[in-house]
Amino acid sequence: MSARGGVVYLVGAGPGDPGLLTARALELIESADVILHDRLIPAGALDAARSDAELVDVGKRPGAAARAQREIEELMVERARAGRSVVRLKGGDPFVFGRGGEEAEALAAAEVPFEVVPGVTAGVAAPAYAGIPVTHRDDASAVAFVTGHEDPEKPGSALDWEALAAFPGTLVMYMGVRRLGEIADRLVAAGRDPEQPATVVERGTMSGQRTVSAPLGEIASAADAAGLRPPAIAVIGPVAARGAALSWLERRPLHGRRVVVTRARAQASGLARTLASLGAEVIELPAIRIAPRIDSDGVRRAVDDVHSYALVCLTSPNGVRLLFEAMAAAGRDARALANATVAAIGPGTARALREHGVIADVVPERSVAEALVEALADIEVEGRPVLVARAAEARDVLPDALRERGAELDVVALYETIAERPGKDEIDAARGADYLTFTSSSTVRNFVAAVGDSLPPDARVVSIGPVTSAAAREAGLAVHVEAERHDIEGLLDALLADVASAVSER
Ligand code: SAH
Repeated sequence: MSARGGVVYLVGAGPGDPGLLTARALELIESADVILHDRLIPAGALDAARSDAELVDVGKRPGAAARAQREIEELMVERARAGRSVVRLKGGDPFVFGRGGEEAEALAAAEVPFEVVPGVTAGVAAPAYAGIPVTHRDDASAVAFVTGHEDPEKPGSALDWEALAAFPGTLVMYMGVRRLGEIADRLVAAGRDPEQPATVVERGTMSGQRTVSAPLGEIASAADAAGLRPPAIAVIGPVAARGAALSWLERRPLHGRRVVVTRARAQASGLARTLASLGAEVIELPAIRIAPRIDSDGVRRAVDDVHSYALVCLTSPNGVRLLFEAMAAAGRDARALANATVAAIGPGTARALREHGVIADVVPERSVAEALVEALADIEVEGRPVLVARAAEARDVLPDALRERGAELDVVALYETIAERPGKDEIDAARGADYLTFTSSSTVRNFVAAVGDSLPPDARVVSIGPVTSAAAREAGLAVHVEAERHDIEGLLDALLADVASAVSER
């Protein structure tokens, strides 16, 4: 802790999409001693904070009183004077309707050094994510950012409605949704054209973003009919009409769908990222965790002899990762497999092998043990040493078949899948899901055991393949979609096809 006293950083967190946090914001979040944050900050914005950082939510909560502005300012000053580095993290840009100006003044008055880190403001970002350029060569040479939070009936309201009505450019209203009717009425009464295009963007840049467009005179009733809720921003002016052609976020195939990912956290990120890039709101509810077992005697023996196997079979990307980890620990690399035929159960496992410098010799079309047994029919195994490296709880289809053919078989468990206990918040978040995805029987069983009676009522169940589907049915779930290819890409294809067919039925 510095004797000189700490610095306060007034940091903009952007409008909601975590990707719109600036590099400087992330850097400061990572190093801060204290983070005083608003309620409306991007999901996961605090994940990078130090585990010993003091995190204080100073935002307004529905039902609970907000911390008084004075209290927040005192807290910043007090922590900084104690020599701590303080991040004051605010939605959007700190100096755009965020009271950041007042906070900077309080710091200046207290002679606490500060830095301001601009953020992407909602007034630019929400329209952009709705395909609306706030200025346009043909339509608008000026843009006004206006706060509509003030009560327009308030005597001495700061807004000059005549001037706003006459403003030669786009009006962007930061406002409470309930104010929209009054705002539109005031503008029209002051002379703004009621036919002028207007768009309200709800939850701009976030996965649940929605937009409603109508002429200014009808925008309030249209927003009302759509049940728009905060946070929302209104764009008024000819540019608002351009969203119809330029909207991009809401056109993504999974936009607005909530998809639960039940894979182990370590593996889920690839699937979660792809789903998110297709527009889905991803709820990670890992039902299992991978517990490595590469220190067991069996694994050690197999790794010591790994160069002598004629055939090495791998049945999951996790298995590949852990086999190579165990080999590395024993000072070996891919060359130890130089003389072996290497078999992968499917393309995902083959890809993991490739990442370790090994091209699989055998990869069946369908990623199930039965198909691998078939694909191995031409490989000579009788009397030869064969390694099957896999999960502890795997089925015995492959070992049984190889043993029957006279292989000298070693079966080793590289890892075990252990049930994960999701928290109540995660289970609640999953209640509103549109899709539940299952990539293995163990995820199904553990998911059902973990959520108990709280199964999402309307969710469609997507399974990676027949074995997983059977486990789902056994656990009492209806399976709506089963992937044709039993890997992650196959599962995504099946989910997309289901969404598309549901949309075309409407
Ligand atoms: N400093 C913030 C604005 C704070 S005022 C910024 O620069 O963006 C809060 C208002 O901003 C909300 O009432 C709403 O009108 C608007 N707003 C903030 N985030 C939004 C979002 N993701 N989508 C739409 N409007 C948003």
